[in-house]
Amino acid sequence: MLRLCVAGSGGVGKSSLTIRYLRDEFTEYYDPTLEETYQKEIEYAGRLYDVEIVDTAGQEEFSSFRDSSLATGDAFLILFAINSQASWLEMKELRSKIIDDKEQPSIPMVIVGNKRDLEDEREVESDEIQEYCYSFSIPYIETSAKTGLNVQEAFQLMYGQIHRLQAHMLERTLSKKPTKSRRKDCIIV
Ligand code: GDP
Ligand code: MG
Repeated sequence: MLRLCVAGSGGVGKSSLTIRYLRDEFTEYYDPTLEETYQKEIEYAGRLYDVEIVDTAGQEEFSSFRDSSLATGDAFLILFAINSQASWLEMKELRSKIIDDKEQPSIPMVIVGNKRDLEDEREVESDEIQEYCYSFSIPYIETSAKTGLNVQEAFQLMYGQIHRLQAHMLERTLSKKPTKSRRKDCIIV
């Protein structure tokens, strides 16, 4: 099963984004200490895949990255909040930990600037973000879990990265559900 991790420091909106994606809802409060794993059948380029979406939590407390649930992730949405410079710095640290730990050049990831509805409070400038993402060839998207802006698109971008960088991984998770086969014995006249 493909494990897709929603990562980032506390309070950036990981749970909110995940719930917005899965249920199209926004609730003001999720327990910040809870990690949840959801099974989901996703559609990418007209085909269905079975994946796990992991809404991670408590990454700050892990002294060793290897002990965290991120160590077993196959692909990542790495979040920061555009109104928090601290979360941007933590996002950068997290990205380098993921790369170091996996020791793979091509881990599918997408960087997500959440809380776009709080543009008035922006603390992280677009130029700096663009430069950083460009230098690592990582796609970037700004979302709002509150309004729903770009939430589907962020996940689709991650699926696109998986397809581009780890196509074999995606093939293994093709949904096993029987497809409606055409009835050959039925002749339409
Ligand atoms: P997590 O710790 O990363 O899982 O963050 P949560 O999803 O629990 O969100 C932390 C706080 O930010 C909550 O009060 C959310 O309601 C709020 N929040 C999350 N996403 C957004 C967003 O896109 N816009 C705004 N304005 N608030 C958000
Ligand atoms: Mg959470």
